[in-house]
Amino acid sequence: MPIQFYNTYSRKLEVFKPIDPPNVKIYTCGPTVYSFAHIGNFRAYVFEDLLQRHLEARGFQVERVMNLTDVDDKTICGSREAGILLPLFTEPYKKSFFEDLESLRIKRANHFPAATEPENIATMIEMIALLLQEDIGYQAEDGSIYFRISKYPDYGKLAHLNLADLRPTGRIQNDEYEKENVGDFALWKAWDEKDGSVGWETPWGKGRPGWHIECSAMATRLLGPEIDIHCGGVDNIFPHHEAEIAQSESVNRKKFVRYWLHNAHLFVEGQKMSKSLGNFFTLRDLLEKGFSGRELRYALLRVNYRLPLNFTFDGLREARQSLLRIDEWIRRLQAIAGTAAQDSEFAAAKSDRFFTALDDDLNISAALAELFNQIRETNRLIDHGELAAGQAAALLDWWQRINQVLQLQEDTESVPQLVTALLEKRAKAREDSKWAQSDALRIEIESLGWLIKDTKDGQKLLKKLG
Ligand code: AMP
Ligand code: ZN
Repeated sequence: MPIQFYNTYSRKLEVFKPIDPPNVKIYTCGPTVYSFAHIGNFRAYVFEDLLQRHLEARGFQVERVMNLTDVDDKTICGSREAGILLPLFTEPYKKSFFEDLESLRIKRANHFPAATEPENIATMIEMIALLLQEDIGYQAEDGSIYFRISKYPDYGKLAHLNLADLRPTGRIQNDEYEKENVGDFALWKAWDEKDGSVGWETPWGKGRPGWHIECSAMATRLLGPEIDIHCGGVDNIFPHHEAEIAQSESVNRKKFVRYWLHNAHLFVEGQKMSKSLGNFFTLRDLLEKGFSGRELRYALLRVNYRLPLNFTFDGLREARQSLLRIDEWIRRLQAIAGTAAQDSEFAAAKSDRFFTALDDDLNISAALAELFNQIRETNRLIDHGELAAGQAAALLDWWQRINQVLQLQEDTESVPQLVTALLEKRAKAREDSKWAQSDALRIEIESLGWLIKDTKDGQKLLKKLG
């Protein structure tokens, strides 16, 4: 089966044909750095990571851009309230965003352009100048520049909106009175007092970019006028991505994006997780409660990206249980495989179903079902003493290949050395039937935040929940 994706633009599953195979250019809308990203945002980034890693597993060379929105109403307002300059205000959130990506094992994009970087502002200004020259952009009384959507006949096609729906139905809001059409969006916002020291000089006056032009400019500058895949959450479809298409295509006169992929939201009790509703958790919140980045990665990854996902702590605990099953399976395979070479016949017979499931619009639930079938089947063989060392080695190799995409392998490094040393001491005490010492060591290990489970395969460590 060829790789296919659901394209928001056509509302259809389409066979994936990049412009210049094996190269694939992907643009992903990144965070607005006015506070810590919440785990709903990370659902988007984990889905994009799965997309990239699967394409790479299929032999594509991915070049990906993720922008950082470091100038907009929210960042300016935050810096004003904090009483510090905008770059100082956004810097720690940029830094913590990268830390969170690492905890969630998300592959870093090739480029992380920030909107305020001089070369990006310069590209935005060039694009706006061209739009003004072509009469697609216009300056309103307040000095701001707007995009005239009546000049872009395809406006509304991504969101499947009728332009008539964008006409004002009643009173036009105060802040929109200067626009010709209520659907026209800002390319450039004229400076006002609230912007303080934030602003750039242009031929049409001092101001700052609108959010949409930031992405059009950074995509064009770093990836060129035509890109293969553009991603974001469904809330980005309109107006953000619609506006990106209108701007980029009006300037570059080329089809901006071949495939538009949008992830459904992470919900909390039926409502979208968002800063404005206050119903959000950050990764930091979950780490403090004793969960790991790996566990959150699994919890966000395991539901197909186009299905809404309800966040619960029970869901996180289930993720933990599933990971423990994987970990235990790997340990059993390692014990049997030892240093044996793979049984190549057995390896060749291993199905490719994990990857073919992902070919089908990243059907991760079918891919994981394949993994867990495999785990069940091999555990049964192991229980009956029927799995040969070469077969276990072949399975470990299969796991390595799928883990390139999943990135879920247990991170042994994360267990502190002291805990490992105490654990070894306890194993020895148990061998020597020194039960009192074994119990004392258990208490000591627990005080360091780790629980021990004694199983027939030895001691298993579990991070304590906060
Ligand atoms: P923002 O920082 O709000 O621009 O969002 C960054 C990315 O996260 C965008 O792709 C959004 O569409 C996405 N996003 C925001 N909230 C959620 C959510 N609750 N679930 C999934 N994705 C989200
Ligand atoms: Zn964007």
